Amino acid sequence: MNGRGATAASRPKVEVPILMYHEIAGRQDTASRLAVPPGSFAAQLRHLHEAGFTALTVSGLASALAGAPVQMPTRPVVITFDDGFADFHREALPLLRHYGFTATVFVTTGWIADAGPHAAGRRPGRMLSWNQIREAAAAGVEIGAHSHQHPQLDQIAPSRLRDELTISKELLEDGLGLAVPSLAYPFGYSNARVRQTARDIGYTHACAVGNVMASPGRDSLALPRLTIRRSTRPTTFDCIVRGRTETMIFLKDRSLTKGYALVRRTRSVIGGVSRGA
Ligand SMILES: [Zn+2]
Repeated sequence: MNGRGATAASRPKVEVPILMYHEIAGRQDTASRLAVPPGSFAAQLRHLHEAGFTALTVSGLASALAGAPVQMPTRPVVITFDDGFADFHREALPLLRHYGFTATVFVTTGWIADAGPHAAGRRPGRMLSWNQIREAAAAGVEIGAHSHQHPQLDQIAPSRLRDELTISKELLEDGLGLAVPSLAYPFGYSNARVRQTARDIGYTHACAVGNVMASPGRDSLALPRLTIRRSTRPTTFDCIVRGRTETMIFLKDRSLTKGYALVRRTRSVIGGVSRGA
């Protein structure tokens, strides 16, 4: 016995992969390179199951990182889906249930299939309906906000920023009868002003795209996520969930690099920005 307590130095480092998915669909259904084919997604969940991972929601992760009331499992993983595509209900939910995994779905409220008078913006594909969102929530899936119209939040005026973050939170809370403390920034873009506004409005945690693991001490309004895409091969997926992200997997992901916001501003002046997260 060396008599030492669990000091910060001796405590095992907690690092949690937060995976970011979009569509679960094949090439025949979508041109998006972020869409993961159903067969690949099934293999990825099977891999997580066989490797002994336990899934947490984003809220559950925030609790576990804070030390309570959720305990951090031995091998935690967080599985998230952006935008609210209908294929989540058809392709992902049955598999998540099969393996006993939970997940978090970030819904763009203006795009909900039966948004009615609240419909806004151009839907990028077939989107979830309110019944499907409620069914997912009833199955233990966390529903988070992903803005109302999916703008680049760091590029819009303060009043519109407040509206985007408030409307989406209120619509989801009214529609589900649940608190919605989680947010994902469209395209992963945020800055200090966006994060402070999210905090002021009542979000307690928010996901960006960081392509590093989440760990204690990070800003809870800037939780990094790892992009899973159509081209993610099984060996790469294994590296990602093990945190071996220093390999050049993410070379193309420049979304959070300083200076890229300037590039985007320039591009949007020139003629539009490609759609992403
Ligand atoms: Zn998105």
